Amino acid sequence: MILCQDRSVLGGNASSEVRMHVVGANGTGSFDRGAELETEAREGGIIEEIRLENCVRNPQRSAAIFDLILYDLCRNEPNLTLMLNTTVTGAVVEDNRIRHAIAERQSTEDRFQIAAEIFIDCTGDGRLGVEAGAAFLEGREDREAYAESLAVEVADSQRLGSTILLQARKHPNPMPYRAPTWARKFSKQDLKLRLYSVPGEEEPTHEYGYWWAEWGGTLDTIKDNETIRDELLAIALGIWDHVKNGPAESKSNDDPFEAANWALDWIGFLPGKRESRRFIGQHLLTQSDILSSRQFADAIAYGGWSLDLHPPEGVDAPEKAPCTQTRVPYLYDIPLRCCIAQDTENLMFAGRNISATHVGFSSTRVMATCAAIGQGVGTAAAFAQEHNLSPNVLAHSQTAIHTIQQTLHQDDAFLIGQTNRAPKDLAKSATITASSELPEGLANNVISGQTRSVHGPSGAPPSRANAGSHRWMSDPEKGLPAWLQFEWDQPVCITEIQLVFDTGLHRHLTLSHHDGYTSKMIWGRPQPETVSDYEIKVKRKGEWVTEVLVTGNYQRLRKHLIESSFQTNSLRIEVTGTNGLSHARIMEVRLLS
Ligand SMILES: Cc1cc2nc3c(=O)[nH]c(=O)nc-3n(C[C@H](O)[C@H](O)[C@H](O)COP(=O)(O)OP(=O)(O)OC[C@H]3O[C@@H](n4cnc5c(N)ncnc54)[C@H](O)[C@@H]3O)c2cc1C
Repeated sequence: MILCQDRSVLGGNASSEVRMHVVGANGTGSFDRGAELETEAREGGIIEEIRLENCVRNPQRSAAIFDLILYDLCRNEPNLTLMLNTTVTGAVVEDNRIRHAIAERQSTEDRFQIAAEIFIDCTGDGRLGVEAGAAFLEGREDREAYAESLAVEVADSQRLGSTILLQARKHPNPMPYRAPTWARKFSKQDLKLRLYSVPGEEEPTHEYGYWWAEWGGTLDTIKDNETIRDELLAIALGIWDHVKNGPAESKSNDDPFEAANWALDWIGFLPGKRESRRFIGQHLLTQSDILSSRQFADAIAYGGWSLDLHPPEGVDAPEKAPCTQTRVPYLYDIPLRCCIAQDTENLMFAGRNISATHVGFSSTRVMATCAAIGQGVGTAAAFAQEHNLSPNVLAHSQTAIHTIQQTLHQDDAFLIGQTNRAPKDLAKSATITASSELPEGLANNVISGQTRSVHGPSGAPPSRANAGSHRWMSDPEKGLPAWLQFEWDQPVCITEIQLVFDTGLHRHLTLSHHDGYTSKMIWGRPQPETVSDYEIKVKRKGEWVTEVLVTGNYQRLRKHLIESSFQTNSLRIEVTGTNGLSHARIMEVRLLS
C-alpha cells in the first residue's frame, strides 16, 4: 500500500501544522456522551491505538511528538510505503477506472505515476477524485433538496469557514504585545457571542487559540485559500491583541483578560480547512439518516457528533453564534456506499469528503469519525483487492459486507448492533471459568461478541443497544492475580490469541492543547482500567506452560500469533497487574484456529 501525503507531517488538521484536537462520537461540552459500563462511545480500532500511544508517549502534549508518533506508526508498518512531501496532482482515467495517479515531490524534483487497483481519496479537498472527474457537491443544499430542516432555505455556494489556531504560554513577568499593522481590531460588541462564550471545556483560556476565529466560508475555500490565510492571520492576531491589550474601544490598559504575563508561542500558517468538496457516492448521508440513526446493512463506521453548523461569514457575523449544534440522539451508522464513487469504478473516499449533504457532513467531519471511516474504507479496499473486485460492487454483495464487517470487529472497530461472529473462534466452544467474577462481569461475557457497553443514555439506538457490560470483571475483594480459563473436551490447536482490554471508552482521550479539556481526561499515563501484565498459559501433559508473557501493556487490542502449533484442552489468561484498577477486566477473547 502507498500512502501519499503532500506535507512533511501526517495527521492533517490534527498535525502540528494546524493542532486541532481529535474528537468523535463521544462529543464534548453539552453533547458529551459517556457513562462507564453504559455509554462507551469513543472510537476503537486504529484511532484508539493512536490515542493510547500518544497519551502514554506524549505526556508533555507536544504537537511535534504527535507528528513523530504518527510517522513512527507508519514506519513500523511493513506493508506501507509512505511518500511524504508528495502531492497528488493528476489522474489518468481509462474506461472509467483510474489507471494511475500522478504525484509530484518538489524536494527531490520527482514526478511519479502511481498505479494501483484501488485509489482512496483522503485529501480533504478531494484532489484525486476531482482530477479523475468524479462528481462532487459544494456549498449548501436547500431544505427541499433532501428534506432537511436544518438546511438553508435557498441553496448557495457557501460553506463552513477556515481557522488559524494559536498557542500561548504564561511567563513570570509581563510580556507586552504589539500587533502587526495589518491585524484586525475587534470591539467587545464584535466578539460578544464569541470570546469564551461557549460553556464546557471552552472556559476562559489563553493557552490554546480560538476555533471560532473563522473566516472564508463565503469564498472558495480551495481557490481563495491564500487570501483566506492572510485574513485569518489578521483575525487571529487581532483577537490576541484584544485579549492582551483590551478591546478596541478600551482606553486604559486594564488587562481585562488577565493576560499580561501571557505571550504567543506558536501560530499556524496553514488554514485549518473545514469544508470544500463532498463527493457524490452510492449513497448521500442526510440529516434524517443521522438523526434517526437509520440502520444500514453496509455500515463500516459510526458517528455521533452533533450536527454542527457554522455561519460561513465566521467572525464577520457578530450577531450569529459561531456554531449551532443540534444534538444527535443516538450513535448512527455510516454506510460503505457513502465512500464509493458513483461514476469511477475504483475510487473510494474517506474523511470529510465522503458523500453527505452539507448538513450530514457537519456531523461526520470530526476527526475520530473520519478515522473510523478510514479504517472501514481501508478494510473494504483490502477485501476488494484480495478478491479482485471493483469497490463499486462491494455494497451489493452480502458476503463481501459480512466479511468486511467481521474483519473490522477483529480489528476492534465498533459497528452498532453487530457482533463478532468469527467462525474459527474456539473461545466460543470452550467452557469458560474464572478465579472470580462479578455479577455484572461474568467470565462468559468475553464471548458476547461485543466489546463495549452502549445501552446507556445517548448510546446505540435502543433497538440495537444489546445491553450488558460485555466484559469479564474479577472480584476486587479477591485481588490479583486473577485468571480466566478456557477448556475443551477435545484438544484444540490455537494459532492466534486476540485480547481486547478495557481502556475507558466512556472518557475523552485526545491530544489537546487546551488545559480545561485535557483535565477531563487521564492523560500522560495508561488508562487505569487496562490490564498491564498478563500471562497466557496452556496445559501440556498436565503442566501449565507459559506461551505469552506481557508486561507494561497499555493498548486495548493485543494480538498474539502462536508459532509453536500446540494441541491443548486448557488455556488460561492470568492477569497479574493493571494500570490502576483493583480488579482485572477483559472485554473479549478470541482464540483462532
Ligand atoms: C478550526 C477547525 C476546528 C475544528 N475542530 C475540530 C475538533 O475540535 N475536532 C475534530 O475532530 N475535528 C475538528 N474539525 C474538523 C476536522 O479537523 C476536519 O473535518 C478533518 O480534519 C477532516 O479530515 P480529513 O482527513 O478528511 O482531512 P484533513 O485533516 O485535512 O487531512 C487531509 C490530508 O490530506 C493531505 N492532502 C491534501 N491534498 C493532498 C494531495 N493533493 N496529495 C497528497 N496529500 C494531500 C493533507 O496534507 C492532509 O494531511 C475542525 C476543523 C477546523 C478547520
